[in-house]
Amino acid sequence: MCSGRVDLSFVLRAFSNGMDGVFIGGCRLNECNYVTHGNYHTLNMVLLCRKIMEYVGLNPERLKIEFMSAGEGILFAEISNDFAKKIKELGPIGKSEGIDREVLKSKLAEIMKLVPYIKMQKNEKLASRHRNTQEYENLFTLEEIERLFSDVISYYIDPDKCQACMICSRRCPVEAIEGGKNLIHVIDQEKCIKCGTCFEVCPSRFGAIEKISGRPVPSSVPKEKRAIVRKSKEK
Ligand code: SF4
Ligand code: SF4
Repeated sequence: MCSGRVDLSFVLRAFSNGMDGVFIGGCRLNECNYVTHGNYHTLNMVLLCRKIMEYVGLNPERLKIEFMSAGEGILFAEISNDFAKKIKELGPIGKSEGIDREVLKSKLAEIMKLVPYIKMQKNEKLASRHRNTQEYENLFTLEEIERLFSDVISYYIDPDKCQACMICSRRCPVEAIEGGKNLIHVIDQEKCIKCGTCFEVCPSRFGAIEKISGRPVPSSVPKEKRAIVRKSKEK
């Protein structure tokens, strides 16, 4: 219903599935029927996604957004035709840019995994509204995107602090935390989408979850060493 519903992950998935171009049509800016002005969010998401595409080595021209009213059928047809022509000129995704299909797929898969993280990190800019094209052009920079991916935060559970309260494993949206009653919890880094929920919900009296950036995540405690022996049971 609203172009604001078009998530960054939808666009990346389309490219990952081999679409050569993605076109998003939204209502005219400042003519939203709701207070949310979702089309501004979409515009910002597209600008962010275009920079991510540059980072990956894809031509950002493959993603286009235009704003028009429901009564502008001719304009819609013209824009769609022009975009289709442009995409045909650009050629097949990846191949035209000299990126191997499988390499592109795996790069996009890595980035798709980070979408919740990207959205949290760029939350303010994604919700911002600007007055002129210049401000929009400078909203995201390639250097910023490079930094975003080089400074990715990982989460790690300190085995000496975890009290197996199980709050984090219940709240993790992708079941990336292995645990159980009286077992030190561990994060499966392959499954983790770096949303930070576990860090937020681990009770402060335990403070067992660390944010890690710029250094490798320590390896997990082996399964056979995860049992927590409570002091009262030791006696
Ligand atoms: S950051 Fe924590 S809660 Fe979020 S996906 Fe990773 S392990 Fe799960
Ligand atoms: S919320 Fe904290 S203390 Fe509780 S299981 Fe998770 S890491 Fe351990």
